[in-house]
Amino acid sequence: MKSIMFIAPPAAGKGTQAEIIANKYNIPHISTGNILREIAKENTEIGNYIYETMSNGDLVKDEITYKLIENRLSLKDCKNGYIIDGFPRNLEQAIKYDEILKKVDLELGYVFALNIDKKELEKRVIGRRICENCNTTYNINEEHEMPRIESICDICGGNLYQRKDDNLDAFEARYKNYLEQTTDIIKYYEEKNILYHINGNASVEKIAQEIDSIISKEGKKNDND
Ligand code: AMP
Repeated sequence: MKSIMFIAPPAAGKGTQAEIIANKYNIPHISTGNILREIAKENTEIGNYIYETMSNGDLVKDEITYKLIENRLSLKDCKNGYIIDGFPRNLEQAIKYDEILKKVDLELGYVFALNIDKKELEKRVIGRRICENCNTTYNINEEHEMPRIESICDICGGNLYQRKDDNLDAFEARYKNYLEQTTDIIKYYEEKNILYHINGNASVEKIAQEIDSIISKEGKKNDND
């Protein structure tokens, strides 16, 4: 299956959608944010740098991000498709991504742009909670996304935490950055005819259905070729 990329503002639900597709099609979900958050836990020079940068809502240096992506995409489990989430974040990264793909012998697949209102994003950012153990995401401001017991993961019983950058100040910086940078990437992928706009204000289930119908339609087309 082709790889899948998500372009979406912070807290738009791309991580949730990525998990749904990853489970359904049994492909890895590669989130640069998750990879960087893991490194940020280490008390090393690079760990501390990443922690500070992420806390401010700024982008981590390209040289670090590129190396992480290349290493991750070189692993065997990416050969049958994967989901990339959080990368590329600007045109420069998109162009570099083409180079990395060539190097690791993979191809660009689907690009899904999740479009969603800013007010809704602010609500989601403030309410987002994540399991420190299995990374499942909840939202205490959404009836259908609340954990059953406050601060405890329904799935593994791990503690839920709030991301350091999930506050309105860091959100403003991340959102501004997103708007400035993504217009160009969206155009870049539209011109390649691989970009699909999705209404991110719809329910989790509806969005998942819409994405799935696009992927399965393509799958059927290829079967008939
Ligand atoms: P996310 O989980 O995708 O919202 O990413 C959280 C934070 O990780 C961002 O605000 C950046 O600090 C960092 N980050 C994630 N992906 C990238 C990337 N492609 N380039 C640079 N920094 C990134």
